Amino acid sequence: MLKQGIDVQKISAVAKTVARQPRFVETILTPAERAVFAQRKGKHQIEFLAGRFSAKEAYSKALGTGMSQGLTWQDLEILPGSKGEPVFTKYPQSSFLTAHISISHSDDLVHSAVILESKNTMKTVQENQPVSRRRPAWLEISASALTHNIHYVRALTGTQRVCAVVKANAYGHGLAEVVPVALEAGADCFAVATIDEGIWLRDFGVTVPIFILGITPAIYTPDLAHYDLIPAVSEVNWLKAARQYLPKTEQLQLALAIDTGMGRIGFREPTALAEAIRLIDKTEGLELKSIWTHFATADGPNEAYFEKQLKQWHALTDDLPIADNVWRHVSNSGTSLWHQQPHPDMIRLGAAMYGFDPSQASLPARDLQPVLSLRAELVYVKQVTAGSSISYGATYKAKEDEWIGTLPLGYADGYRRALQGMEVLLPDGTRAPIVGRIAMDQCMVRLPGPLPEGTVVTLLGAVGDQRITLEELAEKAGTIPYEIATGMGQRLMRKVVG
Ligand SMILES: *Cc1c(COP(=O)(O)O)cnc(C)c1O
Repeated sequence: MLKQGIDVQKISAVAKTVARQPRFVETILTPAERAVFAQRKGKHQIEFLAGRFSAKEAYSKALGTGMSQGLTWQDLEILPGSKGEPVFTKYPQSSFLTAHISISHSDDLVHSAVILESKNTMKTVQENQPVSRRRPAWLEISASALTHNIHYVRALTGTQRVCAVVKANAYGHGLAEVVPVALEAGADCFAVATIDEGIWLRDFGVTVPIFILGITPAIYTPDLAHYDLIPAVSEVNWLKAARQYLPKTEQLQLALAIDTGMGRIGFREPTALAEAIRLIDKTEGLELKSIWTHFATADGPNEAYFEKQLKQWHALTDDLPIADNVWRHVSNSGTSLWHQQPHPDMIRLGAAMYGFDPSQASLPARDLQPVLSLRAELVYVKQVTAGSSISYGATYKAKEDEWIGTLPLGYADGYRRALQGMEVLLPDGTRAPIVGRIAMDQCMVRLPGPLPEGTVVTLLGAVGDQRITLEELAEKAGTIPYEIATGMGQRLMRKVVG
C-alpha cells in the first residue's frame, strides 16, 4: 500500500518563528538533528530547520495523523545521508512502514514529499503472535515427501508448469517452511488466496509469478502492480475500476477466471468475457497472463459433472481472441491425479503436493507421500487409581489403576476437540488413546505403563511402518483433511526435516 503526503513552507516564516520562540529548535529537532543544525551556518541553518519542519508535516499527512494524534516531533529523525540526501532514521509509530522522502528548496520555499510503503505487514502480524518454541510440541514438514510429490505429479501429468498452491499458510504447513522446498523441487510459480499472502511471498524473496485465486478489491490495484501479483478477474466492472487505480507507469498482469460450474467466482457469459478481453487489449498497462477455471467434482466419482464443466470450458474459451502465450490452466490436484490434462500449460497443485488424497479414497490410490507430522513430548506422567476421572466434564473414568500422560497441545493448536478417543503412536509404533476431553492447550493419553517424561508421541505422521494420516484425523473429526491441515495452530513450531 502506498500513501503520500506533500507540504510546502515559507523559509522566511520558519525563520520568524525561530526568532519568536527560542525553544522551537529544541522542540522539533532530535539531539542528532540538533548537532547537524549547529554545524550549519546562516541561511543553510534555517533551510535545514524548514526542511525538517516541512518533512514532518508531509509525513503526518501521509500517515493521516495530526501532531497530537500518535505522532510527535521526536518520532521522526531526518539526517543527511552520505550524499546529503535526507534519510529517515526513526519512525517508531509505524515500524512496518518504509518512508521515501525528498526535500527541495527554491527561493523562499521548501517543499517536501513523503511516500510511505507498507511493507512486511503480514510478517509483523506473524511476529506479534508468538510461536511456542520452548514447548515440546511441533510440526514436521518433510522436504523429501514434498519434493517427491511435485516430481511425481509432474511426471504423471506431463505438465509444463507446476503452480504450488500455498494459500492459508501453505495449507497450515507453514509458508516459510514450504516455499523454499517447493522452489527447490522445481515449482514454477505460486498461488495464494489473498493479496496479503502474495505480498508476504514477495517480501520473503519470491520472484516467480504469483497468482491470487480469490477476488482482490480493485482499490488495491496499485499494490497488485507494485508487488507484481496476478489477480483473478471475474467482472468487467472490476477491470474498469482497476484501470482507474493503476498508476500510469505500472503494468498489471491478469488471470481471467471462468465459472464453468463451480459457482464461486469467474465469468459465466460469453459477452462479458469478450468485453473483458477487449478492455484488456485496449488498455495500456493491462496484460492477460492466464485464463482458468476450477472443477467442483474432479476429486469425486461424478464424471458426468466434470465432463459438463469441461464442455462448458471449451465452449467459453476455445475461440477467444487471445494470444497463444496466455496460459490456460484448469487442474487442481483432483484433475491432475485422475483426469486427462485438457491443457499442458500448468496445473495448480495443493493437496497432492502436501501428500494427501483429495478424494478421501473414493478414487484409485496414488503414490503420494504425506508431508506433515505432528509430535509432542509427554510433559507429565502419573498413575491414577481406578475410578479417577480425567479432564473437563469428567467424561473419562479409569477402569483400573492406569498410567496417564499429559501432552502440551490441544484444540487451539488444531488438535481438535472432536478428536477425543483418537489414538496416537508411541515410540515403539503401538497405539495409545487420547482420554478425556481435549482442552485448549493440553490433552491426556492413556499409556501402557510408566513411560518417561520427554517420550515423543506422534499425533500425526509415521513411526517406523505405522502411520496416522490426515485422512484418519479428518474422518474422526467429521471433516476433510484440508480442514485439519489448515487448522494447525500458528503457535506450533514448524521444522523442516529430511
Ligand atoms: C485451492 C485451489 C486449488 C488447489 O486445490 P487442491 O485440491 O488442493 O489441489 C486450485 N485452484 C483453485 C482455484 C483453488 O482455490
